[in-house]
Amino acid sequence: MYDQTNIFAKILRGEIPCKKVHENDHALAFHDISPQMPVHVLVIPKGPYTNLEEFNAGASLEEMGGFMRAVAETANLVGAAQSGYRLIANNGSDGHQEVPHFHVHILGGRPIMGGMIKAQD
Ligand code: 5GP
Repeated sequence: MYDQTNIFAKILRGEIPCKKVHENDHALAFHDISPQMPVHVLVIPKGPYTNLEEFNAGASLEEMGGFMRAVAETANLVGAAQSGYRLIANNGSDGHQEVPHFHVHILGGRPIMGGMIKAQD
């Protein structure tokens, strides 16, 4: 069940500010409050989806397409598209998702050392 009091819901309602990078009808992109890389931007759908499962079950193809377009356009706007970046979605409790509104992280601005993040046994 979607929690209307989560921090990204408050950002979407304009109750708390964000440093907006990009927006379309279906998605909003803004800088992470605690950047882990020179480029660290979050992209969220505007609909009330806790995780990818809810997004898949509830979002129209137009919403999904709008979200994906916003991800690519945001990476371009922040200058990461040319050199590359990492796209991460922490999803659900095993994925260590902290904010219960589906989102992806765009991480870039410098080369990421190492390859794929290894899961701990
Ligand atoms: P995750 O849920 O994928 O673990 O990460 C949530 C992300 O949201 C974190 O990187 C955290 O720094 C970011 N975050 C948490 N609260 C806020 C906020 O109020 N504003 C912004 N811009 N980012 C936030």
